[in-house]
Amino acid sequence: MTVRIEEVSRSTYLLDCGQDATYSLPQVAYLLIDDQPVLIDPGSTSVAAELLPAIGDLGIDAQELAYIIPTHIHLDHGGGVGYLAQRLHKPKVVVHPKGADHLADPTRLVRGARFVFGDNLEETMGPVLPVPRERIHVPEDGEVIHLQSRDLRIVFAPGHAAHHIAIEDNLTGGLFCGDALGFITDAMPDTPFPVGLPPFDAEAYVESIDKLAGLSPKILFYAHHRARTEVKALTSRLREVCITLGEIIQGAIRDGMEDSRISERVVEYVMSFSSVSDLPLMVQVGISGYVQYYRSRHSAS
Ligand SMILES: [Zn+2]
Repeated sequence: MTVRIEEVSRSTYLLDCGQDATYSLPQVAYLLIDDQPVLIDPGSTSVAAELLPAIGDLGIDAQELAYIIPTHIHLDHGGGVGYLAQRLHKPKVVVHPKGADHLADPTRLVRGARFVFGDNLEETMGPVLPVPRERIHVPEDGEVIHLQSRDLRIVFAPGHAAHHIAIEDNLTGGLFCGDALGFITDAMPDTPFPVGLPPFDAEAYVESIDKLAGLSPKILFYAHHRARTEVKALTSRLREVCITLGEIIQGAIRDGMEDSRISERVVEYVMSFSSVSDLPLMVQVGISGYVQYYRSRHSAS
């Protein structure tokens, strides 16, 4: 795996680790160079291990990293945080309050991840190591991390996961959005797809889209994609897809359809604006959380 390094904004470097061979999942981390360097979304242990020499190539001693911030604790964003925290002696790991316990003891996190990545996930992603408690910093919504040349504001953004945060950077006007603003593939570059891994909250997801779009970021830094500046077009398209998906799925549930048929219906809808023959893993598994969310609401009503 070679890491492609690109300066995407002022003192902001995209570290593109490419796609892994098993899940074909593109992995992108970001390094912010400042008096206290910050690493965002380091990915799994396998990816994080590749980032260390790339950080060195940028003239930064990884031991000097001050903060590591996974936007959420899914293994493709934060699975390597424990590995980094054990290897590097300084950085604080900033994580949503609902994610902190699972970083300190990743047992349940790994169990949940097998649903998406299968039983042999460690073969591709590497081991998931615990983060020492004293290295974990749990922020409040809106908390600001002050660096010499920029302020980073932590914005809670639940929906994709209850433990999802976004990070607003006042130096660049950029927003590190993790998976909160959809999953974009090169085959569907103008349509971010909402990924609903169970337990997914479709209503909170749309509220988070509105909250993040309301910050009027100038650039979106995606974790599985790249930096994009068409913020309004992308966020309103994502919102539209979310609403349509909700309508399709709720209609299908009312009609008494089985999950497999509902998935087919969603795939038909996605195919109506995409030319891909095989939907990416994230899109395929992302449908199940949507169906589960609306099913539980349906049975509760
Ligand atoms: Zn995720």
